[in-house]
Amino acid sequence: MSIDPRTVILLAGIMGGLMSVVLFFMRRNYPPTIRGLGEWASASALIFVSTMLLGARDAIPDLFSVVAGNMLLLAGLALFHVGSQRFFGQPPWTRPWAGLILASLPAMVWYTNVEPHYGIRVLLMSLIMILLTAAHARTIVRHGIRSLATFLCVAALLAQTGAQTVRFFSAFGTTPESSLFILSPTQTYFVTTYAFCMLLLCIGVVLMATDKLRAEFEHLASHDSLTGALTRRALIEACEQELERGRRKRRDMSLLMMDLDHFKGINDSHGHLAGDRVLTGFVARVTALLRRPDRFGRFGGEEFVALLPETSLQEALIVAERIRAEVAAASGLPLCTVSIGAAASCHDDVSLDVLLARADAALYQAKAAGRNCVKATA
Ligand code: GH3
Ligand code: MG
Ligand code: MG
Repeated sequence: MSIDPRTVILLAGIMGGLMSVVLFFMRRNYPPTIRGLGEWASASALIFVSTMLLGARDAIPDLFSVVAGNMLLLAGLALFHVGSQRFFGQPPWTRPWAGLILASLPAMVWYTNVEPHYGIRVLLMSLIMILLTAAHARTIVRHGIRSLATFLCVAALLAQTGAQTVRFFSAFGTTPESSLFILSPTQTYFVTTYAFCMLLLCIGVVLMATDKLRAEFEHLASHDSLTGALTRRALIEACEQELERGRRKRRDMSLLMMDLDHFKGINDSHGHLAGDRVLTGFVARVTALLRRPDRFGRFGGEEFVALLPETSLQEALIVAERIRAEVAAASGLPLCTVSIGAAASCHDDVSLDVLLARADAALYQAKAAGRNCVKATA
């Protein structure tokens, strides 16, 4: 069965055009924190126009079909890469790519209009396409292939790099009169690979953007907007999971319940904004003192809870004392101390409510003992 390359090119163009519309809508509706969408949408639009021009070969002058079509294709691929760089927060290679594409323009015009040679044009185009797609794949790989989205993008880009490499070497055997539209198995292979890769790349970047949006929503739902600590609900979920894990592994876990001392006084004498700064400073200090598996959440107002997995009460008391001392020694902000109540699960089958009540009782004792101290209940 033979496939007409022109039909494939036009179909690829139409699919790219539709993906461009999808990406433009996403750009309009997604938060600006998800970057790169504008570049990806424009890239798909450029590739759409380029495939239409390439597909109209013989119906319009070669200057438009071959030269403009190929230049727009390169610009589209470069813009796709720039979009991914912006998505990952990297400096975009806009100028180097623009320079490379503009530098290839005179050669393209020469070998199209002055001394037409299909083989040389293929050499030039495939070489630049290899550079563009390989660099793009590298950008994504550097950020890790952790999802279907990134896998699709890298697979599409590497398949395209591979196909263009084969095309580069096959160009040595072409005659000046050859054309993209001469029906042959190799041409069909290049054109269909190109069409599928572009579609796959568009789907991949759409998925990458939705993955990132979901991650942002999840973060917003589980983190306190002022301090960045976990929300009460997220911390309770983490505690329940850890309690269950501790039961299975027969390991202790500890909770530290903390409450800033006379915080109302700080608000009253320094203002609410200064109070907010004290809260964020406090969270930053405590987070820096905790280990990786520990979790820290805001339980409400100026009350916080730290979850210390696989930690005995004795070890938890050492951590609590370190936190108390560090907070009391803070400089630059209105001075504020913290009282801490500690409780541990100690192998027994306690529920989270009981454990929290124990930590709360210990905190009450710390307040009663004059504040700025650590107390524990077994
Ligand atoms: P104690 O030592 O007994 O804990 O005294 P306290 O003043 O810290 O306790 P109290 O519970 O009376 O006051 C807590 C204050 O925390 C009252 C409330 O206005 C303030 N607060 C709660 N959330 C925030 C916040 O997000 N920002 C600021 N600036 N203040 C807050
Ligand atoms: Mg307080
Ligand atoms: Mg309080």
